Amino acid sequence: MSDEQSFGEDFARVGRWIETYLAHPERYRVLPAVRPGDIASQLPQAAPEEGESFEAILADFERIIVPGITHWNHPRFFAYFATSAAPAAISAEALAAVLDVKVMLWRTSPSAAELESVVMRWLGKLMGLPDAWTGIIYDTASVAGFTALAAAREALGLEIRERGMSGRDLPALRIYATAHTHSHIEKAAIALGIGRENVVAVACDDEFRMDPDALERAIVADVAAGRKPMAVVATVGTTSMTSVDPVPRIAEIAKRHGVWLHVDAAYAGVAAILPEFASLLEGVEGADSLVVNPHKWMFVPMDLSVLFLRDEATVRRAFSLTPEYLSTTDGEVRNYMDYGLQLGRRFRALKFWFVLRHMGAKAIRERLRDHIALAQRFAAWVREAPEWEVLAPHPFSVVCFRFHPAGVSDDAELERVNAALLEGVNGTGEMFVSHTKIDGAYALRLAIGNLRTTHADVEAAWNILRREASKVPVS
Ligand code: PLP
Repeated sequence: MSDEQSFGEDFARVGRWIETYLAHPERYRVLPAVRPGDIASQLPQAAPEEGESFEAILADFERIIVPGITHWNHPRFFAYFATSAAPAAISAEALAAVLDVKVMLWRTSPSAAELESVVMRWLGKLMGLPDAWTGIIYDTASVAGFTALAAAREALGLEIRERGMSGRDLPALRIYATAHTHSHIEKAAIALGIGRENVVAVACDDEFRMDPDALERAIVADVAAGRKPMAVVATVGTTSMTSVDPVPRIAEIAKRHGVWLHVDAAYAGVAAILPEFASLLEGVEGADSLVVNPHKWMFVPMDLSVLFLRDEATVRRAFSLTPEYLSTTDGEVRNYMDYGLQLGRRFRALKFWFVLRHMGAKAIRERLRDHIALAQRFAAWVREAPEWEVLAPHPFSVVCFRFHPAGVSDDAELERVNAALLEGVNGTGEMFVSHTKIDGAYALRLAIGNLRTTHADVEAAWNILRREASKVPVS
């Protein structure tokens, strides 16, 4: 049999496996019952010298790998930001692997480069972003955020690109965020030589939103002390409790002080495609960059994050560098290698195109609405139940809550009880929730974002939570 013939059979076998898996991911435990090292210990210490049959590899995939998988596809996966991929995108990923193009220069795949630009315009339109903004695809919001902050640093005009930051007299560069900003901003500050100490945690109001007056005071104080404001990061949908910073006022302040404004809308930005959330991105026209993650809540498989830029030239100034072997005579084309650290990039636009075309915007909107409605219903159950409480506003599809047994008021005891409850619930394998801390209070966090999650799943989760809570010893 030729390689191509056997490939056809192997691929058909994989297709059948995928079909069976996706029909019933709920057959599996959500969190696998494995201990650290259990999977690695079943695998050989070295790669095989001789090739093995595809059948043998697939058998080991089922026997060794699948039992150690955390099933994000499970309809009762409620941890972190729950996600799932539209099946059309899975096929598109296979096609992207077949083509195996590197989207770096326009000529290394014109279709990939041009489809990326088109699909980004579609997304910008759906979200109501300014027409003139450019969307660029990155792997993750962390990398997109890093890229935006590198552009903010470049925009200062301090010649850091050429002269670096060491061995010269530079003011401390400052980034303004809040205690609820995602940690990748601090990581970017580390990588960009800004330093964690220069990420300023601006105070928030009692709904976990940045206080714009506190932001302005921080900027003014820094300037007076000889420090250099570099960027403000506003979040639309914070990671822990999905609070939304007041972007219009923040944008005014950033503009007044000439500071780059980056809006992190990684999770919640997608909600802007709903007419009822049309005001969600109010004020972003005053921002310099915005990140949104179709791989979080738009049914695109990991990974696909989008950075929208008011002026793409700043990112190009920060990153473009063309060695001779990559120079071309293609003229006015977008060479995606100029927009970040990566040279070769995956053909990610293909899967997004398949999702947008196969589901259509209408079905995506309906699913987002379902998720939001399910989360609101869950929050209502929690609120109405004695000995349970909701701990933060829940404008989207995430609810922070806790079990609060009568007579317990001590924070440490509440934390112990809820941490034990989390372990108990997740140990069942029937569902998976995660936790966070809200101003020091330990909170359970239920996130809905999976295409397969139904009312029955959320109801089952609520029953499991109450059942397991009744087993937790309370002192
Ligand atoms: N920004 C926010 C608000 C997030 O919630 C997250 C992850 O949950 C990120 C950024 C990082 O996302 P990524 O995993 O795409 O880097």
